[in-house]
Amino acid sequence: MQQEDIAIIGGGPAGLMAAEVLSGAGWAVTVYEAMPTVARKFLLAGKSGLNITHSEPYARFANRFGAASERLRPALDAFSPDDMRAWASGLGIETFVGSSGRVFPTAMKASPLLRAWLRRLEAQGAKVRTRHRWIGFADDGLVFATPDGPTTIRSNATLLALGGASWPRLGSDASWVDPLSERGVSVAPLRPANCGFDVDWSDFFISRFAGLPIKSVTATSDAGTFPGEFVISRDGIEGSLVYAHAASLRDRLERDGGAVLTLDLSPGRRADRLARELARQGDKSSFANRLRKGAGLEGVKAALLRELTPDLAQHSPDDLARLIKALPLPVLRPRPIAEAISSAGGIHWSDMDTGYMLKALPGVFVAGEMLDWEAPTGGYLLTACMATGRAAARGIDSWLSRPQSSNS
Ligand SMILES: Cc1cc2nc3c(=O)[nH]c(=O)nc-3n(C[C@H](O)[C@H](O)[C@H](O)COP(=O)(O)OP(=O)(O)OC[C@H]3O[C@@H](n4cnc5c(N)ncnc54)[C@H](O)[C@@H]3O)c2cc1C
Repeated sequence: MQQEDIAIIGGGPAGLMAAEVLSGAGWAVTVYEAMPTVARKFLLAGKSGLNITHSEPYARFANRFGAASERLRPALDAFSPDDMRAWASGLGIETFVGSSGRVFPTAMKASPLLRAWLRRLEAQGAKVRTRHRWIGFADDGLVFATPDGPTTIRSNATLLALGGASWPRLGSDASWVDPLSERGVSVAPLRPANCGFDVDWSDFFISRFAGLPIKSVTATSDAGTFPGEFVISRDGIEGSLVYAHAASLRDRLERDGGAVLTLDLSPGRRADRLARELARQGDKSSFANRLRKGAGLEGVKAALLRELTPDLAQHSPDDLARLIKALPLPVLRPRPIAEAISSAGGIHWSDMDTGYMLKALPGVFVAGEMLDWEAPTGGYLLTACMATGRAAARGIDSWLSRPQSSNS
């Protein structure tokens, strides 16, 4: 059996950040990664610009993590959005604040950042072993499936940074749930987060409008009212405005069996004005023209109103105006977790100590999306993954540096 100082399993942002901190502190670190290359999801995030963090006031930022905000706070305090930007800058990657307050690298992609990061890790002596899929524990060792067959490695400390359950083809398939559960670690069920939803569209509507964006609307759910846009998909709805409501729609579906996103298709106009304008169109012009001239609705927006409202043309101007301002869009279920941006659920906070060590498995630490927290899109996910990677690294450093008499 091979002996390693520190085994970090999972070469995503959380694992690589822990490797940076620990190798920088002089520890011998090996990152084990199941896939042929590391950080595939991080690279995919780069395809949409790599939103690495958010520039909103820190107190608001730190509260974006729902029930886990308090538990995450020390890790975020030690690696704040400003620290994230300084860290990227230290790797030669400058960032900018977009109009929404989101922060991106100026190159709007992940590969230059990842290349610089891996160079730093190499310079610090951290090793990376790809095609090593961790499959569980055996006695005191970590068992990996490799192209050369199974191998067992013993480490003085281990970090599991294996990601959540979304996009499993990029490597994070949540196969860690069983080996950890068998060792007494409790895991909140993994659920889709920042995901689309199925809607019962008619064949006609899909054939004409799938793929088109609904722009300049507001949407309301238990999460609040937000402006933005979303996309009509073949199965339902997706896109940033839907993701902002995803957690509350998902939770309501679980609780009540049904959930509704309420749309304002004309946020710039009040209902009474809309009603007046619609009434002014008279009965002579076609219904489509009345909608276009009276309410500015045409194309996919008008089609959505028709799709969701039987006998729309029979409604009075007042009723029509009310519908345009508060159109109920019932959703059936979240899209499968494999399609989601991230997953909610994961290892319960009560099963970890403040240094991110599993209480049931002394010497085994955890970080990143595999912990029980969730956040909206906006750079919160990467910031928290890296912040917990750093916090777990500090936990490992303290654990390995503790007086030998307390080693048992
Ligand atoms: C399309 C898309 C766009 C995104 N865009 C953004 C964005 O712009 N901003 C943002 O903040 N977040 C974004 N995210 C989310 C973000 O990428 C993730 O939250 C983050 O990558 C999670 O980091 P992690 O290190 O915890 O896990 P991961 O990145 O999932 O890394 C875990 C690693 O562990 C490896 N692994 C898993 N199981 C094993 C095993 N058994 N043995 C060995 N290795 C294993 C995996 O192959 C993987 O490399 C996006 C996600 C997606 C899918």
